[in-house]
Amino acid sequence: MQTKLKYLLVSLILLFTLSLSAQPSNDKFIVVLDPGHGGKDPGRPTKFDSEKKIALNIALKIGEMLEKNDDIKVIYTRKKDVFVDLHERGAIANRADADLFVSIHCNAHDTQAYGAETWVLGTKRGETNFNVAKAENEVILLEDDYEKHYEGYDPNAPESIIGLMLMNEDYLDQSILLASYLQNNFESKLKRKNRGVKQAGFIVLHQTYMPSVLVETGFITNLNEGKYLSSDKGQTEMATSIKDAILKYKNSLNGVDDDLIIGTSGEVYSNNSDSEIYPDITFKVQIAASTRKLETKSYNFKGLSDISRELINGIYKYYYGSTSNYNTIKAQRLEALEKGYSTCFIVAIKNGEQIPLSDALKSSSN
Ligand SMILES: [Zn+2]
Repeated sequence: MQTKLKYLLVSLILLFTLSLSAQPSNDKFIVVLDPGHGGKDPGRPTKFDSEKKIALNIALKIGEMLEKNDDIKVIYTRKKDVFVDLHERGAIANRADADLFVSIHCNAHDTQAYGAETWVLGTKRGETNFNVAKAENEVILLEDDYEKHYEGYDPNAPESIIGLMLMNEDYLDQSILLASYLQNNFESKLKRKNRGVKQAGFIVLHQTYMPSVLVETGFITNLNEGKYLSSDKGQTEMATSIKDAILKYKNSLNGVDDDLIIGTSGEVYSNNSDSEIYPDITFKVQIAASTRKLETKSYNFKGLSDISRELINGIYKYYYGSTSNYNTIKAQRLEALEKGYSTCFIVAIKNGEQIPLSDALKSSSN
């Protein structure tokens, strides 16, 4: 009887440990496609097709192409002309434990401005940035009880947006990487005007816990671009180029493009030097984030040792490795990837504060 009890206890402990160490195992790379607006919210005014219709058509085309890859799973925030709350869009992605969130929109202006731009949630401030984010955020006023969902956020108040920007920027580097691939494709493959990678406080990007971008595919108020975006040809071309950028991004996570460094404004440059010590910087690989406090033991982290834990804004962050050598941390990131931490990424810490990796790499190395 006692032996039986002991076995039971041991198996219970084992089960408990296993359940703690089990990371959500997604064999597939999950992409959430978010066609902006829908239903009672048509999006920006235009002479051509509505923003909601163009965004949906492009998103459906991207999804159809991505689904041809066996290792990719596509989830849509909407597949029809329906209204979806902004917070629900992010929640769909979070529930799916998605690897990527891509929101599709069209721009509008009272001039004949044109071109495509991609937004990431970030801290570069500016009046025009405020206006674009404000226009896309205003949709929450159509939601029934937005005060409850957005904690007093007022799309008309710049200070509300700045509040959003102060949130955690864990995924900024990866978001910028995808954004730069998108913009490069628009420019080089489609000869669209490249308006660049930009940062602002979009609610829809604030709600997600994964690399996230918002693509303004072009201006539907511009006579040529509006016509192009309303055409099947234009929508197919935009979708193809977005799909290609997503695939390139996915490959870069597997280490294919590991020698590329992305600057804060989205410029991509190569990094091949051997000796790469940054004396003021500590690099770590963030492998997980959770509300649960786990012991930093290797059995909780697929056999990886040298794990550290930080409590940041109520979330426990788990890191692998700790070094001033950028080459060492890149190797450790690959190791974590091989262990199955498919969304792990490198963070840079200076004077106890996390700083954007791109800024850390701009500081001089020995
Ligand atoms: Zn929009």
